[in-house]
Amino acid sequence: NKQYRLAARPVGVPKDSDWEFTTEPVPEIGAGDVLVKNHYASLDPAMRGWMNEGRSYIPPVKIGAVMRAGTVGEVIASNSPDIKVGEFVSGMLGIQQYGKAAAKELTKVDPNLAPIENYLGGLGMPGLTAYFGLLDVGAVKEGDTVLVSGAAGAVGSIVGQIAKIKGARAVGIAGGAEKCAYVVDELGFDACLDYKSDSFKQDLKEPLKTGVDVYFDNVGGEILDIALARINRHARIVICGAISQYNNTTPMRGPQNYINLLVHHARMEGFVVFDYVTRYGEGVQDLATWYREGKLKLRNQIETGIGNFPSVLLKLFKGENTGKLLLKVVED
Ligand code: NDP
Repeated sequence: NKQYRLAARPVGVPKDSDWEFTTEPVPEIGAGDVLVKNHYASLDPAMRGWMNEGRSYIPPVKIGAVMRAGTVGEVIASNSPDIKVGEFVSGMLGIQQYGKAAAKELTKVDPNLAPIENYLGGLGMPGLTAYFGLLDVGAVKEGDTVLVSGAAGAVGSIVGQIAKIKGARAVGIAGGAEKCAYVVDELGFDACLDYKSDSFKQDLKEPLKTGVDVYFDNVGGEILDIALARINRHARIVICGAISQYNNTTPMRGPQNYINLLVHHARMEGFVVFDYVTRYGEGVQDLATWYREGKLKLRNQIETGIGNFPSVLLKLFKGENTGKLLLKVVED
């Protein structure tokens, strides 16, 4: 059982020496436990935060522990009447090839509805983040203009598509012309702006000329300020993430234009998808229906080889992923 463990708390961008690559026997299972052969691990920007010491919405990963990660795989042994060998489940089994958990900590997934990797993407945690973030926190309404950063990524790509399904306009922000073309041509956003272009601030004037009703923020930093400068009365600013700041060695940059919240009677609110755990079923049902109806397009970027975990994780911070970034940990 090959595994990645956290060896040290990173300063800035995680280095190879922050990890330990270990091999151990496949775990034994106790009463009520299930043993899973993981096929895919989810690589998430949040993993960077889990590596830090300090108070957060969940405890940090302990030094020496297997790195926390969402996983999907096949049940190969079971001491639970609720989950059978051969079924597929998602869970938080970490960066390792085999993991065990109590049956109640795992969620069965249906490989007939969609390839199992989608349960780590659009039909899993990132999809639910987009769903509850936009519909509940963002309270999107028909006719709204929704601006979303990280628009070609796992969460952002779903946010814009749900906005369209709900009758809103969707404007994305992403890094590079190729990602922007994907967001508009494949995902059906109304517009997408390349924040790496010199003309970015100029380019967003036209698609945002009627202002922003919902800004779904995945990146923080300067782009949050640019969005705050364009909000409408009663706008909702959804703080989902701030990936531009996660590897900072200095304190996170807060928004300078926050006073626009006062001027425009607007609201800025953060959330964590785990807040919605009791409503996941509702979210997955809608996402799966839209997927089946062809209204929701899902894209995964699958990288191979558990041994490549440290470098593949960094792709998130370099913008080297389109759609959901996954690591295939099962060996063929
Ligand atoms: P993505 O698939 O969007 O991957 C990250 C993307 O961020 C990259 O592809 C890159 O795209 C962009 N990016 C990286 N660095 C920068 C930068 N300096 N400035 C602007 N953009 C940058 O990741 P996810 O969809 O998984 O996550 C998106 C956000 O949502 C993250 O902030 C994450 O922490 C947050 N999140 C929050 C959750 C919650 O419960 N609140 C749950 C899940 C995710 P590009 O090429 O466009 O720069």
